Amino acid sequence: MGDPIKKIITPMSLDYKITPGHAATPFLRGLVDGRLMAQRCPKCSKVYIPPRGSCPTCAVPTEEEVQVSDRGTVTTFCVVNLPFYGQAVEIPYVCASVLLDGADISFFFLIQETPVEEVRMGLRVEAVWAPPEERTPSLESIKYFRATGEADAPFDSFKEHL
Ligand SMILES: [Zn+2]
Repeated sequence: MGDPIKKIITPMSLDYKITPGHAATPFLRGLVDGRLMAQRCPKCSKVYIPPRGSCPTCAVPTEEEVQVSDRGTVTTFCVVNLPFYGQAVEIPYVCASVLLDGADISFFFLIQETPVEEVRMGLRVEAVWAPPEERTPSLESIKYFRATGEADAPFDSFKEHL
């Protein structure tokens, strides 16, 4: 008797069209141009990225488009040590919650070029964009984030965004 079957590879595909709507369209188009477009709440002034078209706190539409920086601060992170099928990045690697400068909500990104043991809360990071000819209206236009070498952001500057 041979070894038990543990996995079966079955090629499959899923074709779909996405209609991003008024809020996400400028965000997705911005990614092609290397810009990060957010929206500001007219009531509480919080800046949301990616924009969803409304403020969940104030329950009002967010229509003002604002560009936020492609630099930010690591607010929290996790180190991925477990191998899994289809893994594209060598382990260990870090996924971090990054508070982009000018935004009020953090965003999850891959961290590369920075040793895993050097990633920490407060680390300043910047986006590494795909070359312009490879960009699409998707987050794949940002390859990853890496440390900038700036001094760490003080905890008080991001403690409200954890
Ligand atoms: Zn609001």
